[in-house]
Amino acid sequence: MKEISPDKLYQLFNRSKRNTENVIKAAPIGICITTPSGHFEMVNPAYCEFYGYRPEELLGQHFTQVVPEENRAILSALHDEFMRGSENQELRQEWDVVVKSGEMRTVIAEAARIEADDGEPRKVTFVIDITQRKRLEERLKQANERLDHLAHHDELTELLNRRAGLQRLEEEIKRCERYGTPFSIAMYDLDNFKAINDTYGHNSGDSVLKQITTLVSGVLRDTDLHIRLGGEEFLIIMPGVYAEEAYQGMERVRKSVAQQTFSEHQLTVTLSSGVASYAEASGTRLLDRADKAMYQAKQTGRNRVVIASSSM
Ligand code: GH3
Ligand code: MG
Ligand code: MG
Repeated sequence: MKEISPDKLYQLFNRSKRNTENVIKAAPIGICITTPSGHFEMVNPAYCEFYGYRPEELLGQHFTQVVPEENRAILSALHDEFMRGSENQELRQEWDVVVKSGEMRTVIAEAARIEADDGEPRKVTFVIDITQRKRLEERLKQANERLDHLAHHDELTELLNRRAGLQRLEEEIKRCERYGTPFSIAMYDLDNFKAINDTYGHNSGDSVLKQITTLVSGVLRDTDLHIRLGGEEFLIIMPGVYAEEAYQGMERVRKSVAQQTFSEHQLTVTLSSGVASYAEASGTRLLDRADKAMYQAKQTGRNRVVIASSSM
């Protein structure tokens, strides 16, 4: 091995120190060093640029200056614990921070404990700005939720759509078979609705549909499920309810709708409904019975509710 003189060694040491300082200065990520009490001792240019402060506005200040008010206590406690820790621990965590302009941003902060030349520990923290990524993730999440909503709901009325509704009906039947809890369904169809479209146009028809379904949802119990089967035909699943009670519920719905006027044309609309209670294992059969009862309601004059008889 080549002998190196003490002078040369000293030179190399100083150069390496300067190099290290330059590396920290040039680093594209924010780096800071905090004292055991949590005060800034070193901040690199990227750190200052990200937070919008000049170095002299940070040095000597407590690091919670860049932490939102509500997180200050917990972060201070974490800092103290980190400083007291006995092992060479590292901490990597996502945090919301607040920059000088007051804007909130999200960072990943990775901290390491080092020993300084005074023999005391320091915390060196590397800060990576992930605000853009977080916002993108949030937007993606919202888009996914919207897609999921659209897959299960009808766009005009926001009710459950046919596919989702029939699936819920199957689930209700299974629950009923397993636990023996009763449930009923009601189908309803608006009376002479075609005439509304023909007279006032499809848009008026649409707004009547929206207003009526909102009204009906308001009259139903929170546990009832309101489904648009298609067109102006709807299904209501009423868990825990026998036929007679379901009939009373639908009478309330029928009267509420008949008493109101809808759209800017102040239109009166009625509905006909068929109620069926769970008796057999097949969902189709249950729907079939409610449909037959609804047909009977239409045949016997509309604006009425009919309970499916045992022969249906
Ligand atoms: P009935 O009392 O026998 O039910 O008479 P109806 O005129 O309501 O007859 P039917 O239920 O067969 O016809 C439903 C009409 O509802 C047909 C269509 O013009 C209208 N319709 C169905 N879906 C929509 C919709 O999404 N928007 C609008 N505006 N109209 C719809
Ligand atoms: Mg109709
Ligand atoms: Mg119809």
